[in-house]
Amino acid sequence: MAGSYWRTEVTSLVIDMMTVAIEQEPTRVRDTSGDVILEVRSVTKAFGGNRAVDDCSFTVGRGSITGLIGPNGAGKSTLLNGIAGALQVTSGSILLEGEPIVGLRPDELLRRGLARTFQVPRPIPTMTVLENLVLAGQDQAGERIWNAWFRPGQIERQENMIIDQALGVLAYVNLLHLRDAYAANLSGGQRKLLEFARTLMVKPRLVLLDEPAAGVNRTLMRQLTQHIEEQCHDHGVTFLIVEHDMDLVARLCDPVIVMAEGKRLMVGSFAEIRQDKAVLDAYLGGQVG
Ligand code: ADP
Ligand code: MG
Repeated sequence: MAGSYWRTEVTSLVIDMMTVAIEQEPTRVRDTSGDVILEVRSVTKAFGGNRAVDDCSFTVGRGSITGLIGPNGAGKSTLLNGIAGALQVTSGSILLEGEPIVGLRPDELLRRGLARTFQVPRPIPTMTVLENLVLAGQDQAGERIWNAWFRPGQIERQENMIIDQALGVLAYVNLLHLRDAYAANLSGGQRKLLEFARTLMVKPRLVLLDEPAAGVNRTLMRQLTQHIEEQCHDHGVTFLIVEHDMDLVARLCDPVIVMAEGKRLMVGSFAEIRQDKAVLDAYLGGQVG
C-alpha cells in the first residue's frame, strides 16, 4: 500500500516537472555570477554508515532564489540543518560571505544574517502568534537585551520596538487577525506562514526554507510566493528553498540544484533540469525499495 502511494506521488511529481508551463519560468532579475553568498564544499554528513549527504558541493549566488530539489531521502533537510548549524557535518566546509561557518551555533549564524525555517514548523504552542514573533526578534537582539538588563529603563523601549516590528510583520503576512491565537491552534498552512514570518523578524541576508509550501493551501501559497519574490527583489534577500511543489520551484527558483543520494546531481534552470534524464531517473529510481 505504501508502495502504491509512493508511486502516485512520485509519478505526479514527474508529470508536474514535465508539464509546468514555460511562461511560469522566472526571469533573471540580475546577474549574480561571481557574487557568492554561500558555498558548500565537499560536505558529508554520515549517520552511522549512512551518508545522508555525500561529498556535496555547490554555491548560492547573492540575490538569487535557488531551489534545492530531489527525491525523498536525498539529504536536502540534512544539508540545510548542516548549513544552519543545527547539526554538525562530518566533513567538508561551508562558507557564508566567504567565511567558514562550520561549528557556529544557529544563534551566531542568525546574527550573521542566516535564518531558516524547519520542514515541520516549530512554534512554541503555548505562546501566541505575536509572542512567538517577539521571541524570534529577541533571539536576534539577544546581546542588546542583555545590555539593557543593566539599564532597566531601556528594556521596555527595546521590547516595544520588537512588538511594533512583530505587528508589522504580521500585517505583512496577513496573520494580524491571529495575533492573540495560540500557535497550537493554527492550521498547518498558517504555521508555515508563521515560520516564514519568524525569518522576517531578523532582517536576514540569506534564508533557508525547508518545504515552505507543504500543506499550504493555494491562497496562502500565492501569498508566500509573492513575499519571497518581494523580499528578494526589493530587499536583496537571498533564498535557498527545498521544495517538492514544482509549480513553486518553476515560478520562483533559478537556478535549481538537484540532489540524489546525498550528492549534487545537477544544477540548471528549471527548463534544463526537467528535461534531464538523470534527474527523472533519480526521481523514478528513488521510490523503488
Ligand atoms: P530529504 O530532506 O532530502 O528528504 P533527509 O535529509 O531528511 O532527506 O534524509 C536523508 C537521509 O538521512 C535519509 O536516509 C534519512 O533516513 C537519514 N537521516 C536523516 N536524519 C537522520 C538522523 N537524525 N539520524 C539518522 N538518519 C537520518
Ligand atoms: Mg526533507
